[in-house]
Amino acid sequence: MNIKSVVSMLSQNISSVREKIAAAAKRSARSAADVELVVVSKKRSAEEIREVLESGVTLFAESRLQEALEKIPLLPSRLHWHFIGHLQKNKLRKLLPLFELFHGLDNLELAQSMNRVAEELGLFPRVLLEVNIAGESTKYGFSPRILECSLEKLLSLSRVQVEGLMTMAPLTKDPEQTRPFFQQLRLLRDQLAQRAGIPLSVLSMGMSQDYEVAIEEGATLVRLGTAIFQEEHHRVEMEQERR
Ligand SMILES: *Cc1c(COP(=O)(O)O)cnc(C)c1O
Repeated sequence: MNIKSVVSMLSQNISSVREKIAAAAKRSARSAADVELVVVSKKRSAEEIREVLESGVTLFAESRLQEALEKIPLLPSRLHWHFIGHLQKNKLRKLLPLFELFHGLDNLELAQSMNRVAEELGLFPRVLLEVNIAGESTKYGFSPRILECSLEKLLSLSRVQVEGLMTMAPLTKDPEQTRPFFQQLRLLRDQLAQRAGIPLSVLSMGMSQDYEVAIEEGATLVRLGTAIFQEEHHRVEMEQERR
């Protein structure tokens, strides 16, 4: 495809995603403004990201430090970046200054390290606590039980700002099957927030396959890569619309 048709494919993907976000938000008695779209730009070039900018998106997410270090300096400084990868202690010093929100904080020791590094760097990193809600052995994240035990210590950290929870639902062909996991994350959030007396208002849940269900269950952030960038995705949708 030439550049022009890539731009138009991306902008059509984005407007179709935005419509679906708005419709799903409405079904959960909210408005589109209550759900933030984070475009997952991992494995995409700075050039492709620039094309997405044309549709007014300014919030992107990366999952690997090295890739982010290479790409972010090539792009306008007005962009906002979230980190959605697995957090490693030895990379915190480089990660903290680059990103506005960390979606994958998954253990207390890491949170304590982050707090120390943040203090040295004079930063107040915002984080989401990743929960392995389905208890899958292949996934990172707090188990709900361990999170309950760790919460008080997490919230007492002087620098790290806990703003909510994040999860990845199990991969399924039928998005409907992810619903119970999103419900469980929201209920867990409600319980923890009530116990701690703070809102924990951010719920980062939903990817290309399942974001509409996640929004119906209360997601405030959805992380979309494939739905934005993939030509296939676009084509399938165009065909569905034509039917
Ligand atoms: C890659 C990734 C996404 C985006 O996945 P898509 O299915 O392409 O939308 C979302 N969240 C995390 C944590 C990811 O690693």
